[in-house]
This record gives sequence, structure tokens and C-alpha cells, in this order.
Amino acid sequence: MNRVILIKYGELSTKKGNRNFFINTLYHNICHKLEGYSVLISKDRARMYIEFDEKDLEDIKHIVDRIFGIHTYHVANVVESEDSKIQEELLTVISKERFSSFKIDVRRSDKTFPIHSQDYNRVLGGLLLKNIPNIHVDVHQPDLHITVEIREENTYIYYHTYQGSGGYPVGTQPKGLLMLSGGIDSPVAGYLALKRGIVLEAVYFEAMPHTSIEARNKVIQLCEKLSAYTDVIRLHVVNFTPIQEEIYKNCREDYVITIMRRMMYRIADRLAKKHKCLALINGESVGQVASQTLSSMSVINEVTNMPILRPVVCWDKLEIIDLARKIDTYETSIIPYEDCCTVFVPKHPVINPNLATCVEEENKFDYLPMVEEAVQTMNTIKVTTTSQKDEFREFL
Ligand code: ATP
Ligand code: MG
Repeated sequence: MNRVILIKYGELSTKKGNRNFFINTLYHNICHKLEGYSVLISKDRARMYIEFDEKDLEDIKHIVDRIFGIHTYHVANVVESEDSKIQEELLTVISKERFSSFKIDVRRSDKTFPIHSQDYNRVLGGLLLKNIPNIHVDVHQPDLHITVEIREENTYIYYHTYQGSGGYPVGTQPKGLLMLSGGIDSPVAGYLALKRGIVLEAVYFEAMPHTSIEARNKVIQLCEKLSAYTDVIRLHVVNFTPIQEEIYKNCREDYVITIMRRMMYRIADRLAKKHKCLALINGESVGQVASQTLSSMSVINEVTNMPILRPVVCWDKLEIIDLARKIDTYETSIIPYEDCCTVFVPKHPVINPNLATCVEEENKFDYLPMVEEAVQTMNTIKVTTTSQKDEFREFL
């Protein structure tokens, strides 16, 4: 063993009572994500260590970057906690770097190590100054900030910090049901829910033949992108056509979107309960469209008693786009395919819908059996990051 990835936990270190649960969940997630690699993963209360094959380092970093619950990580050189070995390794490693100023930061968590941190700082600093030409110490803004962590088993030397994704490990919260359209907002909402540790299932409402198979594939692709941050995502595809057509046939034009959204919520509510999801999650944002004014949201929300998480509810569109780009969903989201919300858009959708009018309008057809039918007949697709590559799209 020469190098390891040394992981420092994120916010979970503040959760005293649940600490073990958080660490074990993170450990399980890392093991699972790195299943295909030859790695050895170990943990203690403060750190996790991944021993890896050098040829896999970039791949593994790419995966680790997407695992929630990791605050920062380092690629550290490992050496026995013995003075001469530490000195030898430090000099070998640091001689390969180009820099002009440095700072050494010794952390001695193994108190049996015979030299005190401050003294050892001086020993190691002196060693570098003596052996590497044209360098000097700068404790304020060094080019290279070298940490030497002396632990009981081993000593870790590192000088570069990688930012992890933060958040809590996925699985530290129960399941939530993400309403996933092909737009920009809902994948971002899903990402933020995952970051809180929530396990995701997703529901997509399609209205074939008014919406196309390409629109569905786009949603599957978004789901694949999201699954990089978690494990498999079960995507429930609901046939929304019969309900949508009845709405257009029977209800007042300015109310069709409001009623459509109420139907979506009703179906999502039943689906969530059936699959033990404790909350609905969506990409609504106040004021974005007529159905997302506060009045609309309260009238639409009225059909369910489930908690609804709207992670981007107070974000500007540009802030949402910014995050969509960072998590690599934006380019997929902007592929222009129709959504069932956009196929028949009324000229003047109501902005302040009245609840009594809504109820009156939707009672013009017998929707409850149709809602049940939609839940009963939906298709579930298991989506993973590799599903596209390996044609591992399993219809349940
Ligand atoms: P955009 O980025 O274009 O705003 P959007 O996905 O946010 O797309 P909206 O019309 O704003 O679309 O819908 C608000 C929310 O309702 C979405 O974020 C999503 O959670 C949910 N939603 C809309 N259409 C669907 C659909 N066809 N299937 C599942 N959820 C949907
Ligand atoms: Mg939106």
C-alpha cells in the first residue's frame, strides 16, 4: 500500500447520537459504488480509507465526488508511523512537486509517537529546506500546505484537498417520491433531496400519443444522471392520457392546468403511499408559471396530506440552471420534447384559482376510478447509471 483516499465526513459528524448509523450508511454506499473495482475500504470514527489500484484513481475520484456525506478527501501517501520512514517518504513525495513555499502541519493523533507535533514540524521542515533547493517556509500563503497525520497504524501525508459533495449519505432518510418531468427544475429538486439523504423513487406522467417516446427517454436519461448520486432509481411511468383527455373535454379551459396538477398530486399521493414514500418532491418554484403562484399551490396542494418538499421553491431560475449545469442534467433537460403539461396550454390559465370552482369543474367527470386505474397500470423501470451502456433497463 502506497497511497489511499482519505475521506473526512461531512455534516454527519455533528449528529452525535446517530453517528454510527451515518458512518455505516456512508461506508455501505461507498462499498456499493466501488463494487467493480479492486479496493479495500476501512473506517474509523473520524475517517474512511480507500486503498486502490493506481490505474483506477481517476475513475474512483469521479465516483467519490458524487457520494453524499463526504466533506473533503485527500489522496494520501501512507507510511508506517516511524520517524525515519516518515522522513524518507515525505522527502520522496515532496521532491516530485514544483513549488517555492510550503508549510508543514503535523497532527499527532497517536500520542505514543515520541516527538511532539511542534518539534516534529521543525524536524520535517528542516529536512525539506536542507534537501530541496530554492524553497522557503510561508505559514500564511504557502504553495504547498503539507499535512502529516500521525495515527496509530499509519501516517498519512497529503497536500491537496478535494471537495466532496457534502450533505448526508443517501439512505439516512426514508424514501421520497420525486415528480420528475423532462424540465430543468425537477432533476435539481431530486439532487437536493438526495443530498439530504433521502432515497428516491420517481414518477413521470406521460400522455402518449400527445407526448412521444423520446420525451420518455429523456426522463429516463435524467433519472440515469441522478442515479450517479445514489443507487438504482425506480421510475414509475404513469399513463396520464385518459385523465388528461377527460379534463380537456369536460373542464373550463382556464382551469385545466390547475385540475391536471391536482390529478397528478392525487396519483402521486397514492403511489407514494403504496411504495412507502413519506414525502412528495417536486421542482415547483413560486411565481414561475400560473400553476405556481401561492394561490395555485395552495389549491393544488389541497388534494394530499403528504409533506411536499420543494427544494427550489424560492430559487431564481438562473440559480436552478446553474446547479443543473453542475450536476450535468441541464443539457439533457433542454432537449426540446413536449411534456404533458405543455401539450394543450390554455391561453389564459387561472392565476388565482378558486377551490370551489376547481371541485365543481373536476366533478364533471368520474375521476376517482381513473386515478386508481392510473396507479394500477403504471410501468416501473429500474434506472441506474449503467442502464444505457449495458442495456440494463429492466421493466418490472
Ligand atoms: P421547467 O424546468 O421547464 O420549469 P418543470 O419540470 O419545472 O420544468 P413545471 O411545469 O414547472 O415543469 O412543473 C412543476 C413541477 O411539477 C416539476 O418540477 C415536476 O416536479 C412536476 N411535473 C410537471 N410535469 C410533470 C410530469 N409530466 N411528470 C412528473 N412530474 C411533473
Ligand atoms: Mg418549473
